[in-house]
Amino acid sequence: MWNSLRTLPNLLFPQSCLGCGRLGNDICLDCNAQIRTPALSINKMGVDIFAGFRFSPLASRIVLAAKEDNNVAAREILAQALGRSLEFAIRRLDISRERNDLYLIPIPSRNSANRSRGYLHTLLLARAVIRESERGNFSILNCLEHSRRVKDQSKLNIDQRVRNMAHSIIVKENVNLEKLTCAQVLLLDDLVTTGSTVRAAQSALAERGIGILGAVASCAS
Ligand SMILES: [Zn+2]
Repeated sequence: MWNSLRTLPNLLFPQSCLGCGRLGNDICLDCNAQIRTPALSINKMGVDIFAGFRFSPLASRIVLAAKEDNNVAAREILAQALGRSLEFAIRRLDISRERNDLYLIPIPSRNSANRSRGYLHTLLLARAVIRESERGNFSILNCLEHSRRVKDQSKLNIDQRVRNMAHSIIVKENVNLEKLTCAQVLLLDDLVTTGSTVRAAQSALAERGIGILGAVASCAS
């Protein structure tokens, strides 16, 4: 009796793969194999980017499900990829866990997107990564925001994206960045494509005298 009641939601709303729609699990074995790849690193606009998997149409569907639909399973997949990316960055950059604190700074979505969604997508991702990390001694500093209206980047080419994002991200008022001056800092995002958003975030911190080691992302193109 109880068992059949428990499976009722699954009968009414059967789980389907976020990637291909196949019924069964949140992510099917075939799609999972495509995103369980070794972490990668790539330099974009002078910033070292570390990513859990490479961007693809499948990756795009997972990112959109997490970002726009608040899909918990999709966010979990992105958080796991971010965890791999973070471990990779720590090894590659030879980040010392003893010498300095390590801060993760989520790259914010557009203000209008945050308002219409009602949640901060990259901040939720950062929290999920920290929850699952075995190391457990990272800090999140949610100190960035958009200073002005920017266009949706998805329809723009590289030059347009760079112009769209230039000086568009600022450090929030009343945030004390003193603790960052001798800390190790990584930006955090779900997806890095051209690197123009990461660059804008880096510039905002640089104006306040804060350098970054690079950026970690769930996926990158
Ligand atoms: Zn699938």
